[in-house]
This record gives sequence, structure tokens and C-alpha cells, in this order.
Amino acid sequence: MTVTVATLGFPRIGPRRELKQALEEHWAGNGDEAALQAAAARLRADNWIWQRDRGADIIPSNDFSLYDHVLDMSVMVGAIPSRYGWSGGPVDSATYFAMARGTRGDAAAGCAHGHADAASADASGTDTAGGLPAAEMTKWFDTNYHYLVPEFSADQVFRLSSAKPVDEYLQARALGIETRPVLLGPISYLLLGKARGGAFDPLSLLPRLLPVYVAILRALADAGAGWVQIDEPCLVTDLTDAARAAYGRAYAQLAAGAGVRLMLATYFGALGDNLDTALALPVDGLHIDLVRAPDQLGPVLAAARPDLVLSLGVIDGRNVWRADLQALLDRIAPAVRTGRTIQLAPSCSLLHTPLDLDRETALDGEIRSWLAFAVQKITELATLARALNDGPAAVRAELDAASAAAASRGTSPRIHDPSVQQRMAAIDPAQARRASPFAVRQAAQRARLGLPAFPTTTIGSFPQTGDVRQARAAHARGTLSDAAYDSFLRAEIVRAVQWQEEAGLDVLVHGEFERNDMVQYFGERLSGFAFTRHAWVQSYGSRYVRPPIIYGDVRRPEPMTVAWWRYAQSLTDRPMKGMLTGPVTILNWSFVRDDQPRERTCRQIALAIRDEVTDLEAAGAAIIQIDEAALREGLPLRRADWQAYLDWAVACFGIAASGVADATQIHTHMCYSEFNDIIDAIAAMDADVISIETARSRMDLLDAFTGRRYPAEIGPGVYDIHSPRAPAAGEMLDLLRAAAGRIDPDRLWVNPDCGLKTRKWPEVRTAIAAMVDAARRMRAA
Ligand code: GLN
Ligand code: ZN
Repeated sequence: MTVTVATLGFPRIGPRRELKQALEEHWAGNGDEAALQAAAARLRADNWIWQRDRGADIIPSNDFSLYDHVLDMSVMVGAIPSRYGWSGGPVDSATYFAMARGTRGDAAAGCAHGHADAASADASGTDTAGGLPAAEMTKWFDTNYHYLVPEFSADQVFRLSSAKPVDEYLQARALGIETRPVLLGPISYLLLGKARGGAFDPLSLLPRLLPVYVAILRALADAGAGWVQIDEPCLVTDLTDAARAAYGRAYAQLAAGAGVRLMLATYFGALGDNLDTALALPVDGLHIDLVRAPDQLGPVLAAARPDLVLSLGVIDGRNVWRADLQALLDRIAPAVRTGRTIQLAPSCSLLHTPLDLDRETALDGEIRSWLAFAVQKITELATLARALNDGPAAVRAELDAASAAAASRGTSPRIHDPSVQQRMAAIDPAQARRASPFAVRQAAQRARLGLPAFPTTTIGSFPQTGDVRQARAAHARGTLSDAAYDSFLRAEIVRAVQWQEEAGLDVLVHGEFERNDMVQYFGERLSGFAFTRHAWVQSYGSRYVRPPIIYGDVRRPEPMTVAWWRYAQSLTDRPMKGMLTGPVTILNWSFVRDDQPRERTCRQIALAIRDEVTDLEAAGAAIIQIDEAALREGLPLRRADWQAYLDWAVACFGIAASGVADATQIHTHMCYSEFNDIIDAIAAMDADVISIETARSRMDLLDAFTGRRYPAEIGPGVYDIHSPRAPAAGEMLDLLRAAAGRIDPDRLWVNPDCGLKTRKWPEVRTAIAAMVDAARRMRAA
């Protein structure tokens, strides 16, 4: 039996971000619908040819999307909330993009980092005066991709409203490429959605939804498709008995009615306690993730029907490392020996990896030899398949090159830094804890800082204006000298400090003008990090990120922020916050090495940040903020794994934060407010002050912090920085009063929800003036 190579999904954005360009042209009104569709068709064709030429036997279609594949499913099944005014028939692109971005096109403004977790517009809004809000957006499992959350009404009607899967299948076929169309499976689709008003269980809609799935599968069969890949990533998450039962019902109906063979794709982890459920489904093939969950191969082989085609996800679809192919061959061999039909595949869709390593010509050659992006991963799979089909001799050179790269990663001094190893070995658990309890520190800090009640501050960044970005770009190009760039930034800081004093803020910031991005800025100053030119990965829609690659032991060769802080503090008598990104956030927004546990890499980063914290303190900083915007994002998919993650994440924050004296105040910031389920971990971080996002929930989410569970000080955001609208002081006062009803007023700070980097100065001036006014009125009351 020949082993074949399958791809589950491929990056959509194009080698030169062609998709983004086409979309932005379209949104700007240059270029009609046909131009956009033509650009999309070219990208799909290139992707299919690319995969075929690299040796993929089973190539996906309908993995492409103009914006998001979950939105595509909502459109396909006609789940269009009534506010978009759709009245049946094929969904036009105006409706599609209204759901994606709202009708002012600014709903997805994103948080100060550009990540979109907090970026959803209020989906329940019906006020159309300012345009329609976009659908809510949230993270796709534990990736940094964001999908548009399906929204269902109690009287939801589903009907087939798009022929996209068929059209794309036929487009490939016309090019002579037979594809396996991809659909998000019905149970995962419903579980990822939400009932409007939370009024019912989305799974109750399954009987209404299934006929649409049957219809699309039939249409694909009629068009000539032999197989369809149906993705059910929810099978690797904790499921209720009801959800498991729904799987059985759904797949019985699909298998009976479909007329195509189904490859059920699971990824992002182990099937675990859902293994029996998955293996009992009447599907023709099963894809399993053997990167996240290598141990499930044995149980699956032992329990799967002999005729079940197995797709083994052996190449990491979530990371950028070249695989040790010989080691993989040894692991796959037992599966091949069973004689069942085997496909080799990436662990999940390659959507989460950059496209092509060959474009990274500026990257250090040795580091490049350790990497594989999407197209290289397909070559790796093709090599594995040839080794199994024709014998290892047929690909000896490729196998040896992969082994050599693995060996060089094992020993390279670029990766292994003895000074870091020694420091890691010497970490003492006491280093992760402050010397004194919060109450003692609070008294010392109050004596030192002498701040008024309801102290006012901001989260760190001020507007990254066109001037700031242009200066940075000119400096990067070499057309602006170091000295000129430096004085430009100093002038920005002077203006920002003067303005903050005039505005009456109590605790000032320098404004972060020198930072391109809150993770990249630090990564560029730490050893063990590499940066790419073209390795973009889709975050949402037309927003792409280029995560740093952490390839080696992390160390801080020299201070990263101290000079900027010192300059800013020299301009004012008020306290100037030192501003850092925390270790967990740096880790979670990077590609992380796979040759040691994430936890170990995080501890190394924590030690580097600790050095910066103590240097800031030595320079005189009385307040240091360590942002952990992405701490919650790192939560594992399975509840049972949460505590272990939270334990090391909290310890890493502790290592970063605890090198300082009692009188030095440590702040942290998190761009969200769902803390109920992790409040004990947040409390264990033991920051002196935490600022969080609460404006949009009108302080309801503050409830997690009430009572004894959270003793420290809190700055609940009093206005939503995602909107250009500056609320009046009275509105902020109401929010502060609501906060004071939940939290001891003595513990409250007054600040916006997040950094102000994405806003414009006039908006910031108006909003901060109102905020300071609201704080004064609280003090007077
Ligand atoms: N200090 C950062 C800023 O203000 C925090 C951003 C964030 O947490 N996303 O930009
Ligand atoms: Zn934030």
C-alpha cells in the first residue's frame, strides 16, 4: 500500500501578501468585485500548484477564504444575523464584509498590540446610525488566528446560501488538480458559535443544520469530489455527553446522505476521552495530531476499524522547525506495518505557519537550516512518503541533511548558552516571590509615592502617529541617522511628558514611541531571538503578524529600556512608570523552540526581564509595569492542563517581578477582563496594581476581584480605547462609581482599557481630560 501525502490547509495570504493588497484595494473602492475575485482565484491556483509540485498527493480546496473560514461557513449555511438585512439568495460580498468588519470598516481596530482578542464590536448593537457592527471575533482554539463567531437566533433557519466549496473544487479541477474540499464540521461549527442572548444551546440547532451539510456534500459529490475533509477540532477539547452524542447523530446522517467519503480531521491535541466517540463515527478516514499528541498513535492503531484510512499529522503545522525525518520514520513505521491505508500530513492546517522559507535570504544561514515553513513542510512529507514507499536509500541525502540539522540544533553554541543554563539551574523558588506580603509593600509604596486617592495613569503607549512610523522606517532604511532618530524620539517624549503634566495625570509614561511592537522591541534586544522579513501569518482577516522565532537560550546582553526611562523621568517630578512586556506574553506571541519545554523558555525570558526590572529600580524607578496581555491566551485547550500552565506562568511573572524592594510598585496589565476562572492565578502573580479592560462590560466583570480573593490594587479601564469616541467625564464617573460599588475604593486606580497607540492625539487629549476630571470628582465625593 503506498503512503500518500495530504495537506489539510494552506496559507491564504500569498508570498507577497497579495490577499491583503487585493482586499484593501477593494475596501478602498478601487477595483470591483471581479478584480478581487480574480486575485483570489490566482492565489488559490498558485497554492494548489505549489503543493502539487512539492509532492502533495491530496490537496485541499475551500481552505482558502477572503477573510475567515468560519465566516465562510456561516455564509454557506445562511447564518446571517438579521441586522445585516440579508433576505435570502446568495450572500453578496457587501454583506460578507459587513459581517467581517462592520460597515465603517473599523470594528476590528485591535488592541494596542494588534491582536484582536478584545477587538469585537458589540454584536448585539442595533444602532445603525454609526454603521453596522461587525460580528464578534475570538481566538481559534489556542492559535493566534481569530475567527468570526457564528451568531444564532432561536428561530434560526439554515439554508444553503453559497456554492463556494463547489466553485473552488471546480476551479481546481479545471486546472487539472483534483482536490479534497475542506469543511468545518457541523458540531465544531455550532460549538464555536453562540446563541443570541445566550438563550439556548446552539447544539439544539443541529437537526436544522444537518440538511444543509448533506446538500453541500451531495453537491460536491455531483461535481466529482471523491473525498471531503471535515474538520472537527472540538474533538480534542472537553466535551459534554450531549456533545458526544450529537457527534454520533450528526455523522450517521452525513454518512448516509453524503455520497462522498469523509476524512474527519482532528487537530490541536489528543482525542483523549473523545477517542471512542471519534472512532465510532461512520467516516472513512481519521486525521490525528501526532505532534501535540504523539502518544495517541498506539491507542488509535489498536482501536481503529481496519478499513479506516489514517492520516498521521506528523509535521508540526503550528511551528517553524525543520523535522528530524529519520526519527519520524522510526515513529511512523509501526503504523505502516499494519497494512492499513496511511496518509502523512501536517498536524493541522498550514495556515498557522509562514509560507516559504526560501524568501528569508537575509536570515543567518545556520538558523535558516533549522527551519521549515509551509512549502518546506510539504517537501518534508514527500520525503517521508518516498522513504516509506521506495526505501530510505531513495532519499538518503534529504534524510541525512535533516539529521545534520537536528544534530546542529543539539549542539550549536548559538542555541546553547552555558551562562543561561547555569542561571536556570540556580533559580531558587524564593526568587519568584516578593520579599514581603502585599499589605507591607502597599504601606511602603504609599509612603514613597504619596499619590492621591483614585490615582490616574495610562497603560503605556501614546499615538503612533505617521511621523513616528515614518521616522522609524527611515531609521530602519538607514536614511535617518541614529543620532537624528534619537533626538526625534526624545522630542516626542518631551511633548508627551509635558502634556501629561498639563493633563493632570498622576503617574506618567514615556509613550513607547521607540517601540515597533511590544514583543518585537524586546525580542530584538534579547539573544536567542530571530526575526524574519516575509514570514507573515494571518492573525485575522487582512491583519497579519510576523512572530519572532525564539531559537536559543535567552539572555539580556544589556539594558533595553533604562535609558529611555531615565530620560523621561528627568523631565518630571511625578513618578514615571518603567514599561516592560512580561515573559509569558513574549512567549505566547512568538514561535517557540521545540527542543525544550515552553516553560523552560519562559523562565529564561523571565530572568532576562528580571534583569531589566532590577536595572530600572537601580536607576530610580518607583513603579514598573510588566504587561501580560497574552497570559490568558496561553491557557491549554483542556481544563485538566490549566493548572500546570498557570503554575509556571505565574512563577515566571514572579521571577520577572520579584527582584525589587517592597517600596517599588509592580504593575501588570491585561487586555481582557474574564478573570473568574483564573482569579486565583492572577492573585498569585502578586502584582501591586493590575489594570484590566472593563469599560465594555460596564464593570460587571470586576466581580471576580471582589472580596478576599484579590487583595491588591486595580485599575479597571474606564473607557474603551478601541473606539475613536471619547466618552464624557460623566460616563466615566458612572463607571468609576460602579467599580467603587464592587471594589474597596481605596484600591482603585483610574486608567483607560489599554494602550493608546492606535488612537489619534485629539481623541487622546479629550478622553484623558475627561478621565482626570472623573477621578477628581470621585475624590471630591
Ligand atoms: N504597554 C502596552 C501599551 O500601552 C500594553 C499593550 C497591551 O497590553 N496590548 O501599548
Ligand atoms: Zn491591553
